[in-house]
Amino acid sequence: MTTKKNFDVIIIGGSYSGLSAAMALGRALRNVLVIDDGKPCNRQTPHSHNFLTQDGKTPAEISTLAKEQVSHYDTIAFVTALATGGRKSADGFEVDTNGAGTFTAGKLIFATGVKDIMPEIPGFSACWGTSVIHCPYCHGYEVKHQQTGILGNGDYGFEFSKMIRNWTSDLTLFTNGESTLTEEQTAKLQKHNIRIVEHEVERFEHDNGHINSIVFRDGTSTSIKAIYARPAFTQSCDIPQQLGCELTEHGHLKTDMLQKTTVEGVFACGDNTTPFRTVATAVAAGVMAGAACNKEIIEDRF
Ligand SMILES: Cc1cc2nc3c(=O)[nH]c(=O)nc-3n(C[C@H](O)[C@H](O)[C@H](O)COP(=O)(O)OP(=O)(O)OC[C@H]3O[C@@H](n4cnc5c(N)ncnc54)[C@H](O)[C@@H]3O)c2cc1C
Repeated sequence: MTTKKNFDVIIIGGSYSGLSAAMALGRALRNVLVIDDGKPCNRQTPHSHNFLTQDGKTPAEISTLAKEQVSHYDTIAFVTALATGGRKSADGFEVDTNGAGTFTAGKLIFATGVKDIMPEIPGFSACWGTSVIHCPYCHGYEVKHQQTGILGNGDYGFEFSKMIRNWTSDLTLFTNGESTLTEEQTAKLQKHNIRIVEHEVERFEHDNGHINSIVFRDGTSTSIKAIYARPAFTQSCDIPQQLGCELTEHGHLKTDMLQKTTVEGVFACGDNTTPFRTVATAVAAGVMAGAACNKEIIEDRF
């Protein structure tokens, strides 16, 4: 496709953070394009919690309502496609898509989220978002006081255990192999009656995503109702890196308080910029990115 339609701002990623940025910019009379391929990271979880006015709704209910409200603004256009490439141009940026053409804009906002990499434990992926949980603020209340596990080791396993002890006293840290906890950490966990199990995990047994037990490689098993885990992740979209945006040591896009990346004219918001992954923070970062981007356009043109 050869036509290149021009916009003030292109937002790549049209989930919670991207739609929030779009609303701020659309209401500021900016000509905005949202490119999204419809794969938010929480799509597998049955209910979303801890976002005011939408507590307990499905992720799709929240994003459908958000899209409906953002669609009221004739300043905002949508394209359902994957953005496949991007580059700087004389007037700003060009963005390619798989099948919807190439678009240009003076500014870019990446609200592209992250991709969780499921560990190779049979059953893990099926339970992800239902009984295998990434965040206690999102789902901890629903499994409070239950037989709970943490999949982790070392400092990360220790810190996660300390945190989750707040939601249940029936807690086990599964290190999935030899513990790398320090003596001091081990003693602290024991003091708080947190069990440490070093057996290597074979699989999670579950009923439609609801975990029942962990089966270990040595043939033993233990019953469990919920597991906390933070799998590794990658950026969902590598266009920011193609443009030269820097990442933090943890793999998030580096931004300042105004959600500006390290590349002039490029903003980022939501999960791709922070380890604190919630709908509320994604929406807040989106509105900040939208407003800061608009201010930059005002400064450029006034
Ligand atoms: C299993 C699970 C359960 C969760 N439960 C809760 C909860 O109960 N409460 C809560 O507050 N938070 C919850 N979260 C966290 C919450 O879902 C995220 O913080 C939130 O979705 C982040 O929004 P975002 O817009 O940054 O990214 P996402 O919602 O992940 O959206 C990114 C969007 O960008 C699109 N995209 C990516 N790359 C491209 C590209 N190249 N071209 C076009 N489109 C692209 C994707 O398709 C997607 O639509 C949960 C997360 C997970 C993983």
